[in-house]
Amino acid sequence: MSDAQPSPLSDLLAYLGEIGYGDLYLRPAAAVPQPETAAPVSMPPVLPAETGGDAVARLTELAALAATAEGCTRCRLSEGRHKVVFGSGNPDADLMLIGEGPGAEEDRQGLPFVGAAGELLTRMIQAIEMSRDDLYIANVVKCRPPGNRDPQPDEVAACRGYLERQIALVQPKVIVALGKVAAQTLLGTESPIGQMRGRWYRIQGVPAMVTYHPAALLRNPALKRATWEDLQQVRDRLRAG
Ligand code: URA
Repeated sequence: MSDAQPSPLSDLLAYLGEIGYGDLYLRPAAAVPQPETAAPVSMPPVLPAETGGDAVARLTELAALAATAEGCTRCRLSEGRHKVVFGSGNPDADLMLIGEGPGAEEDRQGLPFVGAAGELLTRMIQAIEMSRDDLYIANVVKCRPPGNRDPQPDEVAACRGYLERQIALVQPKVIVALGKVAAQTLLGTESPIGQMRGRWYRIQGVPAMVTYHPAALLRNPALKRATWEDLQQVRDRLRAG
């Protein structure tokens, strides 16, 4: 028998499992109708802002936000999707990785970074002695752009409120923007990725590193060395607390 005492958080996790949120991947149980036109960028919090620091309240709101995204029709990407890819991992993580948008495999499974780029990302995470379960992974857009094209500005704008709220609810200590689209979107710049990578920025007040997208590393393995240097900076910053 374990001596571990149930906590409000573990009770909530068990409850979420029972109602279908399962393994913390926060797959939503029910679709919520959305307006056809893009609403303001910031999502209204499901719970009052003053509950933002409480882990149970944050997890509950994240689940509610995932359910809202499940029914989202704010942009044309909803028309071609099979599954909304909201996010996965530890909703209380110190490290949050942000990619561009789902590809074909992610669209099929409803989970981020589960295709070829995802396999490399998993190895990159292991290289800094972490596992995917330690972190939270999300994308700029939650639905697959057709043919894996870059998401268009209006699609990014329509989805932005979800990502901003995810960052606010997970409250990571460090963010990593993976690739040009994530970095340019989150930092509001058109600078090339080669100039942005390897440097620290702030995203919603959180220290943020930019590095190459794992798909770019698959296309150009020469970028792996720089990416490894960037991830070592991330690891060191997390260890420094
Ligand atoms: N590329 C991304 O940017 N995100 C994914 O989830 C998968 C591939």
